[in-house]
Amino acid sequence: MVYGIYKKPLDASWQALIDNAINSLPVNVIKVVNDNGITLLKDSDAQILAPGETGVSIFDGNEWFIIYDDAVDSIRRKRFTIAHELGHIFLGHPMIIERHVGAFVGVDYGVENEANAFASHFLAPACVLWGLGFHSPANISEICRISSSSAAICSERIVELYMRDEFLPNPLEQQVFKQFKEFIELNRYQTGKK
Ligand SMILES: [Zn+2]
Repeated sequence: MVYGIYKKPLDASWQALIDNAINSLPVNVIKVVNDNGITLLKDSDAQILAPGETGVSIFDGNEWFIIYDDAVDSIRRKRFTIAHELGHIFLGHPMIIERHVGAFVGVDYGVENEANAFASHFLAPACVLWGLGFHSPANISEICRISSSSAAICSERIVELYMRDEFLPNPLEQQVFKQFKEFIELNRYQTGKK
């Protein structure tokens, strides 16, 4: 059962990276969906999204489905939508008539913000980017396959990490960092080469 297994978005993002044994970027969101027994459907097949919705999560009483808008051009936006929906499920957000209202048009902004925070931290873990020495939005956007606007937010977070006195005080974040150790070592020196 994946619904509501984590509590706070930031802790949830770390715990989900750990539980899904993710040790490289970009995070393979489709594999995470599959590994958690969730069925991913394109809206061009499911035809379920309301106008303005980019994704929904539906529980049919037995199984979870994530339906995403596949008509948008950007693969980065699709990845974010799927990660956002994973956030709703993992964080156990209240279901609205057994349905999570889609990204960015939700009635509950608190819940939408939490799902966005989850997606952002899950796709672009700050400690990994910090370990890589990646801090420009362009580099972050490229390695995490997220939009430049999401990457800009992550970039600010990494600057905060640089300014912290203490090295990764949260044990979950430490564990994520350890899990990505090899990836960080292999990719660290590519920064700024191109
Ligand atoms: Zn949402």
